[in-house]
Amino acid sequence: MTSTAATPLEDSSPQRPQMAHLTAQLDAMRAQGTHFKLRVLEDAQAPVCRYDGREVINLASNNYLGLCNHPRLREAAIAAIAKFGVGSGAVRTIAGTMRLHMELEEKIARFKGVEACVVFQSGFTANAGTVSSILGKDDFILSDELNHASIIDGARLSRAKIKVFRHKDVGHCEELLKEIADQPGHRLVITDGVFSMDGDIGPVKDLCDLADRYGAIMMVDDAHASGVLGRHGRGSVDHFGCTHRVDVQVGTLSKAIGALGGYVCGSRDLIDYLYHRARPFLFSTSHPPSVAASCIAAFDILENEPERIERLWTNTRYFQEQLRQAGFDIGGRSTPRSETPITPIILGDGRKTMEYSRALLEQGVMATGIVFPTVPEGKARIRCIMTSEHTRAQTDQALEILTSTAKRMGLLS
Ligand SMILES: *Cc1c(COP(=O)(O)O)cnc(C)c1O
Repeated sequence: MTSTAATPLEDSSPQRPQMAHLTAQLDAMRAQGTHFKLRVLEDAQAPVCRYDGREVINLASNNYLGLCNHPRLREAAIAAIAKFGVGSGAVRTIAGTMRLHMELEEKIARFKGVEACVVFQSGFTANAGTVSSILGKDDFILSDELNHASIIDGARLSRAKIKVFRHKDVGHCEELLKEIADQPGHRLVITDGVFSMDGDIGPVKDLCDLADRYGAIMMVDDAHASGVLGRHGRGSVDHFGCTHRVDVQVGTLSKAIGALGGYVCGSRDLIDYLYHRARPFLFSTSHPPSVAASCIAAFDILENEPERIERLWTNTRYFQEQLRQAGFDIGGRSTPRSETPITPIILGDGRKTMEYSRALLEQGVMATGIVFPTVPEGKARIRCIMTSEHTRAQTDQALEILTSTAKRMGLLS
């Protein structure tokens, strides 16, 4: 035995009383039927793949355009590793800005038709890092009640005063702006371009009008709209023709773009400011070169293969129409109506939703149950997302399984 040998691992660690409150909460989730185990993908992210040892039709990923496993993104990553290695070695501001990082930022800025762009490690850090750094404690944030968690966390970190308006209720947002009319401080109006749990589109244009009238900064989080909405997938801001009216455009590289990361687009000064003040940019290491290279290849595909986005929408229309005809509540009754490939099947009860999701996996469909606190209590759902790469045969088979399983479980008459 060498002197470095560690104590052997034991199967079960003794329960330490200072951690007992976590165990109690997990037990409560088990009692409610909302506790889950992670499902493990055993091959590449694709329309048909293996989770937990089972071959399934995959309706659960954000891989809208099939780019996660696209040969050109793979090749770009491999070439970047061969040339530049696997890590950047530092945060961007110290020694970790590689030529590929700059190329990607320039490419995104050109694609979006804005002055400049900064790439973050994720969409989450892009939102949280931006909101928290451009506002301070004397300022106000006006935020849609269904905005993404990363916006909420960024708002809290900023210590600005947070005013939450009812979902997509531009009139309510205006009331809140009026209430603070005589107070000093900057105002930020912020909305998701596409809401991630319901798939409806934010009122970007009307909020821009409001921001203009009240002198507020306008910010849109286009994580689920990047690669999906707008010309060549430029996002909801482009879809509404508001490129030069939105001060801060956030997007993700982790969904339709197929790799990992988030970005902020806007004026040269906004980006320069974020280079100096956004904490995830300053304090967390930049992407490996392979990630930047894959993303550059993905934007080439968006520019040159618009047919992928057309296929995505054709598949979406077909899938949603079939679900509606089968009698599913896919939003539009007690929840917002989807306008994008995000397709919720609303079931309401958390336990039933998780049971349905498990039964679907056994029958050959991967569709994740989403329950409180990710969605409001009583609005539990299965969330399906179509991609451009699902064939009609795969979609039909998935529809058959969704329907027959729901009928067998008494979820559909
Ligand atoms: C997924 C998502 C994010 C986070 O993006 P990541 O790149 O996965 O960190 C931010 N905002 C919204 C609306 C999202 O749906």
